Amino acid sequence: MKKDYYEILGVDKKSSKDDIKRAFRTLAHKYHPDKKTGDDAKFKEINEAYSVLSDDQKRAQYDQFGQAGPAGGFGGANAGGFGGFDFSQFTQGGGGSGFEFDFGDIFGDVFGGGRRQQTKRGRDISIDIELTFEESVFGVERTVLLNKVSKCDTCGGSGAEKGSDMTTCNTCNGKGTLREVKKTFFGQFETTSTCDTCHGTGKVPKVKCHTCGGQGIYKKESEIKVKIPAGIENGEMIRLSGGGEAVSGGTTGDLYIKIYVKKHQIFRKEGHNLVMELNVKLTDALLGTDYNLKTLDGEIKVKIPEGVAHGEVLRVKGKGIPYEKNYRGDILIRVHVIIPKKLSREAKKVIESLKKEGI
Ligand SMILES: [Zn+2]
Ligand SMILES: [Zn+2]
Repeated sequence: MKKDYYEILGVDKKSSKDDIKRAFRTLAHKYHPDKKTGDDAKFKEINEAYSVLSDDQKRAQYDQFGQAGPAGGFGGANAGGFGGFDFSQFTQGGGGSGFEFDFGDIFGDVFGGGRRQQTKRGRDISIDIELTFEESVFGVERTVLLNKVSKCDTCGGSGAEKGSDMTTCNTCNGKGTLREVKKTFFGQFETTSTCDTCHGTGKVPKVKCHTCGGQGIYKKESEIKVKIPAGIENGEMIRLSGGGEAVSGGTTGDLYIKIYVKKHQIFRKEGHNLVMELNVKLTDALLGTDYNLKTLDGEIKVKIPEGVAHGEVLRVKGKGIPYEKNYRGDILIRVHVIIPKKLSREAKKVIESLKKEGI
């Protein structure tokens, strides 16, 4: 796969050196990894393209051979850094190669105060919880057992044995950060990273906590109480901020709980109402009857009125889904009158006489 360096920079083959430089500056600004619009891969690509097109000799080679160097030794490998390019010959102000470029002007805003420090964050954890239909309606509290990296209870995360003093971290001399001078294509600049020994605090305990060995965290079984709100739906996600894994000197990740609600045997939700189908014998439909209905909050007697019709909907007020503060939906019972497929001789006789009655 051959890369078109002109296309990458958005210039054409006739573009002047200045045009190419300008295009590169704009793109490098945009895609620098430390920027919001940053894109590491694109940034490398832009640099690779510019390193070739900004060099007369390499550009000529590229134009002729389609690559900067007949054997493909250049720019072909993406070995790391910026496309395997040898930056040593391009140190800022090094002259020699005729390369002059003011990187301070482009990256001053980015690197001016050293690399932006990123707060470390523990891993997020995701689990599933299955609820009964009733639990989803009324809400429930569940306790889950997670084997995860947590803050040490013994030292409260400080890593120090009880009563132990803190002393200055030797690795960073108490600064909490480590500075590193990097020599790159852009010249030389400093990066700052958080000290791994003290996790940025600049202090380490004189005596390490015996439980966590001074890390302030360790992997253990933790019981987590999860309060599941009333009215949760199947497939909904709950986020427990700080319920994930802890990390030394950083913020704890989050716990994501995906909710699965088991189907109810007889009810289904329709808004705040619970809907159900009820088979009613023909004689019960004609004469009326009482039906014992198991609602979400216990059994009640429902009156099936005399002469109820097939498809008729009976409403039991206030036994549906609770909503807002004091409201509840209803239970809606859709009646199915069962017509017997076969009649005994006896039954037939009776119905014949009903027929005479005009029914
Ligand atoms: Zn500890
Ligand atoms: Zn340190």
